[in-house]
Parts: sequence; C-alpha cells; structure tokens
Amino acid sequence: MPTRRRRMGTDPLTWVAEDGVSEISSDTPAPPSPVFEEVDVLRLRDRPLSQFIADYFICRRCGTVGRGAEHATGDIECPGCRQSLHEASYYFRRPVHAVVDLLQNTYQGSLSNDPNRQDKPHREVEVGFSVLVLFCELFKIVQEHFLRHVMAGLRIPPNVSGRLFADNRDPRHRAGKLFPTLTGESWSDAVDKISARSGIDYVETARFVKKCLDTRDAFAHASDLSIIGEDAASGCMLRIEQLLELHVALHNRYVPAIRVGRRA
Ligand SMILES: [Zn+2]
Repeated sequence: MPTRRRRMGTDPLTWVAEDGVSEISSDTPAPPSPVFEEVDVLRLRDRPLSQFIADYFICRRCGTVGRGAEHATGDIECPGCRQSLHEASYYFRRPVHAVVDLLQNTYQGSLSNDPNRQDKPHREVEVGFSVLVLFCELFKIVQEHFLRHVMAGLRIPPNVSGRLFADNRDPRHRAGKLFPTLTGESWSDAVDKISARSGIDYVETARFVKKCLDTRDAFAHASDLSIIGEDAASGCMLRIEQLLELHVALHNRYVPAIRVGRRA
C-alpha cells in the first residue's frame, strides 16, 4: 500500500523545537527535498520511515498541526490561521520518531532472514509480537503527547496532569475516562466524527489498536505466541500512519479551539 507524498522543502520553515527545548535539534533527520516520492511502508529500507510518516508541524500562533506535504510549494501558510509560517516545530517529538524507526528496523529485520530457515514461521511470529508491542508503545506515546497538548491548552498544572496520567496508566483508560473528562466528548464519538468528516475509517484503526493492546495483555498472561496472527506485523506497519493522522485530527479538533477560548 504505497503512500504518495510530497515532501516539504527546507525553507522557509525553520525546524526548531517548541519551548526552546533541544529535543528535535541534533537527532532530527534533515528536512527532505521537495519532491514527490512514493513510500512503500513495508519495504522502505534506505531511509528512516519517520521522515515520511511523522513529518507534522505545529503552528506556534494558533496551535494547528499540519503536514509538510501540504506546504511544499508556493506560499507557506498555516492550515488553521492562514498566517505565514516563519517558524514551525515538529509536532511529534523524538520518542515518536524513534519508535517509528524501530518498528521499521524490527519489521525489516524479519524480512532479511534466510527464507530457507527451518524455524522461519516461528521467527515470523516472534517478530510479529515484537512489532505489535512496539505499535502499542507508539499508541501510548502519541496518545499521551496529544493529551498533554490538551492539558496545556486547559492550563492544567503539571502536578495535576501528572496525577491524572498516574491514575490512568492504561491507554484504554486514558481513552475511556481521561479523554472525555478533558474534551467533554467520548473517545468513540470523537473517532466517529473524525472518520465521517475525513472519509478515513479511523474507527477500524481504533479497533485494531485495541485488539493489539488486548493481544499484548493476553500474551503476558498466557505466554502463548500462537495468539499472534501471521499478518500482525504488516497490519501494524500499515496502520502507523493512520495512528498518527488520527491523533493529529484529534489535536486539531480540540487544541486550537481550547487555545482560542483561553485567549477570549
Ligand atoms: Zn496557525
């Protein structure tokens, strides 16, 4: 399932970290050249996958998150406030990029095995489980990143937000309890509305994520790799982009409006 993507140029966006934090400076991949490229998530080997599917930026002025591909040529403007973007920050921080690339390396490692190996089916299941666990971790990181933006918009003090996260460690609880507490909307309603508006089936994405979390937990109790399907790894890889897109859509649904309300 190739992803057709237009890359963002190096200029005039300035890739700087938010809040003066240097998280994105030295380890962040260099901005790519503005060309059309077709990305096969399952076969990309020569460059980090994060360069292609985690290339979102956040407008410092209004808090809207956009994507490099939408702003490769012509006047560069924020999709939210339509003001010129002189500075923008990567929306997703280093942990997201790192886990995306780790998913890529783990999955590609499985492909480089000798096809004649006797234990290949077992090896594939092991890799499938590794990819599944990393995918669950990616969901947790991306979800927490989004929720922290909502909490920051609501000006929830760090000690309170820390307690909220500590009281809701499971990402399913964060979706089921913390999310509606912060947004006034249930997780499922929000996903339904975003799916309807975008035409992308994020409901399926959300179901897939929950299935991965449940499978991971079931393995922890049973230690039985047979519960991992043969296509678990590719299923996760093909949904990384939707997972990120879903949380960007959630961010744009709530965070800019919260910030406007805060200023009013
Ligand atoms: Zn803006």
